[in-house]
Amino acid sequence: MPVAHVKAGSPVRGRSAEGIGLPGIEDELRKQNDRFSAAVENMSHGLGMFDADERMIICNGNYISIFRLDAEVVKPGIRFFDILQHSVDIGVASHSAEELYAIRKPYIDRAQPSTYEEMLSDGRIINISHRPLASGGWVSIYEDITEQRRAEQELKEQHRRFDAALANMSQGLLMYDADGRLIVRNERFLELYHVTPADFPLGMSHRGALEQFARLGIYAEIDIESEISKTAACLQAGEMLSTYRHLADGRTLLVVRRPMSGGGWVATFDDVTERRRVEERMTHLAHHDTLTNLPNRSMFRERLDQALGEATDLAIFSLDLDRFKAVNDTWGHPAGDWLLKCVAERLQNCLRSETDVVARFGGDEFVIIQFNTKGAGPKDAEKLAKRIVDIIGRPFRDKSRDMHVGISLGIALFPNDGRDADTLLKNADMALYRAKSEGRNVYRFFEPGMDAMVQARRALETDLEAALPRREFGLDFQPIMNIASGEIVGAEALMRWHSPARGLVPPDDFIPVAEETGLIVPLGEWALRKACTVAAGWPHGLCIAVNVSAVQIKSGTFARSVISALAFSGVPADRLELEITETVLMDESDTVLKTLKQLRGLGIRIALDDFGIGYSSLGYLRRFPVDKIKIDRSFIRDIDNRDTAAIVRTIIGLGAQLGTTVTAEGVETEAQLEFLRREGCVEAQGYLIGVPSKAADIQRLLKANPALSQSG
Ligand code: C2E
Ligand code: MG
Ligand code: MG
Repeated sequence: MPVAHVKAGSPVRGRSAEGIGLPGIEDELRKQNDRFSAAVENMSHGLGMFDADERMIICNGNYISIFRLDAEVVKPGIRFFDILQHSVDIGVASHSAEELYAIRKPYIDRAQPSTYEEMLSDGRIINISHRPLASGGWVSIYEDITEQRRAEQELKEQHRRFDAALANMSQGLLMYDADGRLIVRNERFLELYHVTPADFPLGMSHRGALEQFARLGIYAEIDIESEISKTAACLQAGEMLSTYRHLADGRTLLVVRRPMSGGGWVATFDDVTERRRVEERMTHLAHHDTLTNLPNRSMFRERLDQALGEATDLAIFSLDLDRFKAVNDTWGHPAGDWLLKCVAERLQNCLRSETDVVARFGGDEFVIIQFNTKGAGPKDAEKLAKRIVDIIGRPFRDKSRDMHVGISLGIALFPNDGRDADTLLKNADMALYRAKSEGRNVYRFFEPGMDAMVQARRALETDLEAALPRREFGLDFQPIMNIASGEIVGAEALMRWHSPARGLVPPDDFIPVAEETGLIVPLGEWALRKACTVAAGWPHGLCIAVNVSAVQIKSGTFARSVISALAFSGVPADRLELEITETVLMDESDTVLKTLKQLRGLGIRIALDDFGIGYSSLGYLRRFPVDKIKIDRSFIRDIDNRDTAAIVRTIIGLGAQLGTTVTAEGVETEAQLEFLRREGCVEAQGYLIGVPSKAADIQRLLKANPALSQSG
């Protein structure tokens, strides 16, 4: 058996080939021996060879160094047990030599190769491969696997941690390798999608997973091809990709795909249903009016800008409720809020198209974008305007009350009336302003030149405001005659505005403006005082009629100002007549009726002016029994017409039935007066009897009144 004896310092230790004397063979053997020892010595593992007597034949340097043995002690021929003892002596072994031997002995005796591990006292782990030799004895190969074990252990620990992290993640997770195969999937993923491991087995392809989602009907919709190409793009760019996925069960998941450095990607799945709901709520709040839930100004602007970008035919409506303030004042703000909600609902129901937008700008201001078919703009807009006026004009009923409001609309058309949002809104507002000034419950299209009209109207408001302190107002008085007796029974005070800049402005031009700005309250109060003061100088028994607006009566200070005007002038209450119009009685609030009743209780008379025009609902007469009805002058002017004559006759008859005085306004001819006399009308007023005149003139006229000079 070729063995090498190697001295300390030389690689392999073993017994010499001494005693073999054939020169050629010896040479050959030596060469072989050298090659063998070089091979053994250069092995990366330790090697020890033992004979049947358990004595060492050879070992290599690695063997000596793995066990830190003394090369002087461990030499060929040494017994295996003695090596063990030596290793115990030098403190390398972790057991006694006997124990170590007892462990090794079964391997030595066994005829099969085997492998086992031994731990040294310093913690190193040595793997020992045991190979029996045919001739008896054995070879052991030793390998220090400490580092390998540590790495394995570390890897195991890493896996453990990774598993723990995966299992405890609040997000679902799938990991795909560079070939797009599923390699990791956590529990949370299964929970989130209510699926089993078998539905998404490891090794499954990405496409397979997407198809499985589709098959299980998990997503509301899924486009497999687009998902695959999006993923490819995200991997290519090395960027993460976030998408919201809507599940068929209504939940929303945030899916984030992140490419991994070594190829492949991780997909995480997060249930963001609640968060999305909160976010959506927040954005909704930022874009909607909280009361009515309609889009607010900012959202409206967005939609309008967008609509203008798409350049279709549009109509922009600016809307404003009529008499809304009265509802608020009378019924309180909760009722006002309720009404606004109902109005919002009705407006929404008026819109036909899904795309049309109604928004609330605040208060009782609403705006609408109507999308129209090309060329149909004005016609469509007009239809909608009519529908809105009709629908908002119907009473709003809740449990205990009936509320009436109206709505005024201004309309601007795109592209004719403006090409940008600001201009369109401004022009729609202008048209609204015009609608308001022309009376309530009307719609107006924007017209070029309205701008100038609005300017003019604003200027009028400013002038009017300044006119009261400048004492530019005056009163004229028009006599009222008892038809049967021909006596003058009183006079109506009619307001005049002597504007230095404008000349004489008729009340029909400035009273509505004063009503709208609220100036009518101090102005009306002034008129009452002035009229009463003038009437105080008239013969007793003559009454003074003063016109009052609904706005005045609703102001809350009305009764007080009437009483104070009477007290101040000394005119008895039964000589004062207040002329109201139907709109006053149309007001739902109790306060108006209460105030009128209270004044009537003092002996003041209430006359219903301009009767026959407007709503003329007899129901109003039942709501409040007036003392006098004044037939509007338009009927008297038309009295030659048979139908008109019939109406006038009916009103006179009605007055007689109710015990209410009927006065005909605008009597200009003897024929008209004759007709009225014949029909039994009680009183007449008009240019025929007397034109509105200055206080001094009327005083003279009244004093000259023959019937009165005796009684007065
Ligand atoms: P009204 O109360 O119906 O007053 C009668 C109107 O008819 C007056 O117009 C008067 O000048 C006019 N008139 C009288 N006789 C004739 C006639 O024979 N023919 C014609 N064509 N017209 C006649 P005026 O003074 O322009 O007043 C218009 C309206 O302004 C009044 O209608 C009244 O509603 C309102 N008004 C006048 N003064 C006041 C006031 O002090 N307060 C309030 N709130 N409104 C007032
Ligand atoms: Mg009047
Ligand atoms: Mg009148």
